[in-house]
Amino acid sequence: MSFSSDVKAEMLSYISKDASLHCRRARLGAVINVCGYVNSAGKDKFIVIHNENLSILNLAVSLISDIFGYDAVIIKHDAVINDGKIVTEITDSLGLRDSGDFGLDPPIMPSLVKRSCCKRAYIAMAFILSGSVTDPGKQYHIELVMNDYDHAIALTELIDYFGIEMKIVERKNRYVMYCKESEQIVDLLNVISAHKALLDFENLRVVKEVRNNINRVVNCETANINRVVNTAVRQLNDIRYIAERKGINFLPYNLRQAAKLRLEYPDASLKEIGELITPPIGKSGVNHRFNKIHEIAEKLKGDH
Ligand SMILES: [Zn+2]
Repeated sequence: MSFSSDVKAEMLSYISKDASLHCRRARLGAVINVCGYVNSAGKDKFIVIHNENLSILNLAVSLISDIFGYDAVIIKHDAVINDGKIVTEITDSLGLRDSGDFGLDPPIMPSLVKRSCCKRAYIAMAFILSGSVTDPGKQYHIELVMNDYDHAIALTELIDYFGIEMKIVERKNRYVMYCKESEQIVDLLNVISAHKALLDFENLRVVKEVRNNINRVVNCETANINRVVNTAVRQLNDIRYIAERKGINFLPYNLRQAAKLRLEYPDASLKEIGELITPPIGKSGVNHRFNKIHEIAEKLKGDH
């Protein structure tokens, strides 16, 4: 199973347990708005809900049965309501527009999603029906695909209520609402109560963060190594200059000791050189000796 289908399976497993009527109404509204066809005008009124997934059709049928006491018939991939009275009752009660009707009525009736829990229920249902989220190990991407532009706008506004900004792009006559910001994706997964997905997402973000931190540490160490190398190169130049001009024995004993070790161990750090000196001295002591060597070299250059 893909990451996306795992998320949806998780959501479907808890969605049927929810009991409050207002949220179930919001859910049914989402089902019909996302994958339904509504015709409430004329003599032959009907609502058809189309979905390839039988458990979604069953969920829709049970919602209709619970709320309106009507048993819709499932024919292949469609749940069909063709009782004119029930169709009118459903469309009036949930504020549904006829398909292809671009009138003044809002695509999502405000009273249907007035409560915050109902907003979540509506968005969650829309996601189950038309959404997908990419495995965060590959890419940060979440999207919902809508047939109706007005509905895509209305749903974007509904999601915006939770501070999540979705962009809309047209793809093959459909409208793709998407988001690529990892934090916003986590927020959206939270809104639709996809908790396991949210955890997976957060874990992966932590792993990525740790990996970035390790990279930063490695970069820091590289920078330190560069500093050590640069310092050693300068010290070697000083020592060689003095040795060429005056001979290494020109240096007093304590400085000569450090100089010889530097010539022998060009890559060694000050600390390491300090440990090789008898008796051992600290890093600052070694640094002090190389500073003295530097002064002597500079003085010789001045004399030249
Ligand atoms: Zn509710």
